[in-house]
Amino acid sequence: MEIERHDYDVVVIGAGGAGLRAAIEARQQGKRTAIVCKSLFGKAHTVMAEGGAAAAMGNVNSDDNWMVHFRDTMRGGKFLNNWRMAELHAKEAPDRVWELEAWGALFDRTKDGKISQRNFGGHEYPRLAHVGDRTGLELIRTLQQRVVALQQEDYETHGDYEAYIKVFAECTVTRLLKDGDAISGAFGYWRETGNLIVFDAPTVVLATGGIGKSYVVTSNSWEYTGDGHALALLAGAKLINMEFIQFHPTGMVWPPSVRGILVTESVRGDGGVLRNSEGKRFMFDYIPEVFKDKYATSEEEADRWYTDQANNRRPPELLPRDEVARAINSEVKAGRGSPQGGVFLDVSTRLPAEEIKRRLPSMHHQFKELADVDITTEPMQVGPTCHYIMGGVEVDADTGAAAVPGLFAAGEVSGGMHGSNRLGGNSLSDLLVFGRRAGLGASDYINGLKVRPKVSEASVESARKEALAPLERTGENPYEVHQELQRSMNDLVGIIRKAGEISEALEVIEKLKERVQLVGAAGNRIYNPGWHLALDLRNMLLVSECVAKAALLREESRGGHTRDDFPVMAADWRRKLLVCSTTDGSGVTVVEQAQPEMRQDLFDLFDRGELKKYLTEEEMDR
Ligand code: FAD
Repeated sequence: MEIERHDYDVVVIGAGGAGLRAAIEARQQGKRTAIVCKSLFGKAHTVMAEGGAAAAMGNVNSDDNWMVHFRDTMRGGKFLNNWRMAELHAKEAPDRVWELEAWGALFDRTKDGKISQRNFGGHEYPRLAHVGDRTGLELIRTLQQRVVALQQEDYETHGDYEAYIKVFAECTVTRLLKDGDAISGAFGYWRETGNLIVFDAPTVVLATGGIGKSYVVTSNSWEYTGDGHALALLAGAKLINMEFIQFHPTGMVWPPSVRGILVTESVRGDGGVLRNSEGKRFMFDYIPEVFKDKYATSEEEADRWYTDQANNRRPPELLPRDEVARAINSEVKAGRGSPQGGVFLDVSTRLPAEEIKRRLPSMHHQFKELADVDITTEPMQVGPTCHYIMGGVEVDADTGAAAVPGLFAAGEVSGGMHGSNRLGGNSLSDLLVFGRRAGLGASDYINGLKVRPKVSEASVESARKEALAPLERTGENPYEVHQELQRSMNDLVGIIRKAGEISEALEVIEKLKERVQLVGAAGNRIYNPGWHLALDLRNMLLVSECVAKAALLREESRGGHTRDDFPVMAADWRRKLLVCSTTDGSGVTVVEQAQPEMRQDLFDLFDRGELKKYLTEEEMDR
């Protein structure tokens, strides 16, 4: 069958916040842009984001500014962040939020009519611009509206809505194509018909989001199989920080069919507290040394903070997510968990019912519908869930460029910005800041191109063979391979790790790599989920190997990587990034790379006493 072909300047893979913002920018720079997404247009993780987008606008507390946000982000990431990304993010996030308003977004307001901002873990001041607990929906709606507005402009000028920007929905990319070292396009298939498709394009922006589906308990939906991470690796790019996975402290634990679904951090930001089976607010017992001076040590002080932040320290329920997730894990392990194996999150005794319904409408609905729990009268049961990967494609901070010429990445698929742990709300702002920068980076790259790379027929043929192979086999069942991978990653490379267990996971992965060669999908190409999963497995296995190998090498505990056998955060390890690469996709190599030293003016934003907790003596000596 003939393969459908399209010619573009920029192919953006992913239609979440990062992908849409990148596509808008590329089109605004006059580039012909394709947006390709695996699911329906509008159904990306971004749409599920509840709490808000972090931006130091200072609307609720005028002491907030980019420097405070930068410091909070670096602290949250335990100083492993790419400082240049953290700087750009903190400086540019307010403009990106205001830009959304100019494009039609309507954020909740303060009494004096400014964009309202809410508290979130690890943020010193109320900083999350939000729309109730449905911020992601408004963000995506606005960006889609902007895409449509640009298409309408193009219709006026060129008589064709899709002259400069076209969406290819329910279309999965399985390979990036190269001409020599440089990107020349992308190969994929339509999920509905199984027909194959090739994009000829000198640039690809990866915006494919996360990897959660390698774990059993996850807040991520079906399409998060680490495709962009794997596509980048297979094209010769590098992944960094893959050992750092964020287990969100509060996922639903009951009933089993909804285990892992997210319970937004806004519940705690708006006053919700965590209690164990003895009724104790246990987070006071888990404030780590590095945060001791910033968090309240008594319930009275913590409660006063909600109305008087200038004179009180914040409640420990609002510690960064890694700390809260580990604390919940410890309480459950110590036998002080809730009946269904989580802990209690209670907002019902903290806010009037009407206020809960106003501030947390989705949570109220979610618990009523899925668990028959009324959160205005009873506590929720919650536990950690695999939520976000800090690791991803190593990119140039300013342009989003990966090591492969013509390849760019933005959003969750890129690495560096969040270091070892992301603060809540910093993802939505990350998507906007770096989505725009990647769109610009791709446009500038094209402007500088002397010769346009060409797609070779040999590369198309090899991608075609690979994509169709599972349909020609009847061997292993893809669902069984997937389940075994998910169980192993969950149990052996989960929230608390140790060398023996990680090695065991790596052995399982090796066996699954052999089995995946035999995975077959019964039936034909027309909407065949078994075939789709068979193709996704290559990506999940590659990504899981990166996570496990990096987790085994990093002999310390930091952010989203906790080693039972190396429980301490080691200053020497802060200076090292673990970098994953592959030559032919059959295995992953992980090497150490020095972390770039922070620029002096940024270094000077911190109190030296605080830096001492993270940096080596040698690093302090400047
Ligand atoms: P996504 O929005 O995940 O989009 C990825 C896109 O890539 C999708 O369109 C997908 O179809 C496409 N894709 C993937 N693979 C392929 C392929 N092979 N071919 C073609 N297309 C592909 N962050 C915050 O800052 N604040 C919050 O309040 C918040 N709440 C959250 C709540 C939930 C339930 C979840 C799951 C996450 C939340 N996050 C939040 C995190 C944040 O939403 C995500 O990190 C972010 O939306 C990722 O955006 P993205 O643009 O990188 O990718």
